[in-house]
Amino acid sequence: MGKVLEAREIYEELKQTLREKVKLLSPLTIASLRVGKSASCQVYFSKQKKIATDLGINYLPIELEDDATCAECIRKIKDLNKEAAITGIVVNKPFPSHWSEAAVFSAIEVKKDIEGMNPCNLGKLVMGEPLFIPPTVASILEFLKMSEVDLYGKKATVIGFSAIIGKPLSFLLANKFVTVSIAHIATYQKGDLPFYVKNADILISAVGQSQLIKGEWIKEGALVIDAGIAELEGKITGDVEFEQAKKKASFITAVPGGVGKLTSILLFKNLIKAAELTGKRK
Ligand code: NAD
Repeated sequence: MGKVLEAREIYEELKQTLREKVKLLSPLTIASLRVGKSASCQVYFSKQKKIATDLGINYLPIELEDDATCAECIRKIKDLNKEAAITGIVVNKPFPSHWSEAAVFSAIEVKKDIEGMNPCNLGKLVMGEPLFIPPTVASILEFLKMSEVDLYGKKATVIGFSAIIGKPLSFLLANKFVTVSIAHIATYQKGDLPFYVKNADILISAVGQSQLIKGEWIKEGALVIDAGIAELEGKITGDVEFEQAKKKASFITAVPGGVGKLTSILLFKNLIKAAELTGKRK
């Protein structure tokens, strides 16, 4: 039976460390934008506000109307870039699918880009010198560290290929000499997903589809990290059939209480880094 890796202890330690660091800095403000009233953005807003308040950081939520244009969003970001009082900027997804993700994230000033989504920051990460690691990816790396599994030469399968999780994660793992396979919707549609899961010493899933990964596919002794967030019968779940997968894995993360919990606080770790980069020391 696999050990469940919990976020709680590291979360509390990080919160304490960040609180101490905030005291040494001039007032910090995080600006968080959303478009429309999606339920997931509502959850992000309330989580971010709670942590900001806990840490003594100002929280500036910005709501753009459902029918806002990509150009309006970019103008707003550029205004925030110019405001010295704003330390970090987050643009919460989802935003309209016809908007250019690259255009939105490119607009964020590199040193205020605390989700690490500006192509310039993603490029630095690919070159092995990240300024900001996207918080979900940083959270996944924390769980890898917690497991104490030796990564060298291990076979990992990353399911999901988005710019915010799968792509940066795959490069960072390869930088740690992990042999990485990337699976996505086409892998699934060709019926190859079980093969790639069965082959993985380390399985990381970031899709957002409940029960997608069957417990019986998990390799005996694998490390399983589930970053997916989905809903099943009114409950939040990950992508992996947790109970069945636990029987085969050596380590596994739960949803909720796993990757998502650390992601929210690691955003603030990046905010403090942004403050240090922009000379906010008292
Ligand atoms: P996305 O929609 O941009 O990307 C999803 C990826 O999954 C795509 O690469 C797609 O090809 C792949 N995919 C879709 N269906 C698939 C299938 N049946 N089989 C295999 N691959 C499939 O999403 P995203 O923004 O990367 O988010 C992914 C998931 O991670 C969502 O559930 C989201 O809520 C969650 N998320 C979690 C955190 C966290 O902190 N835990 C943070 C951000 C996002």
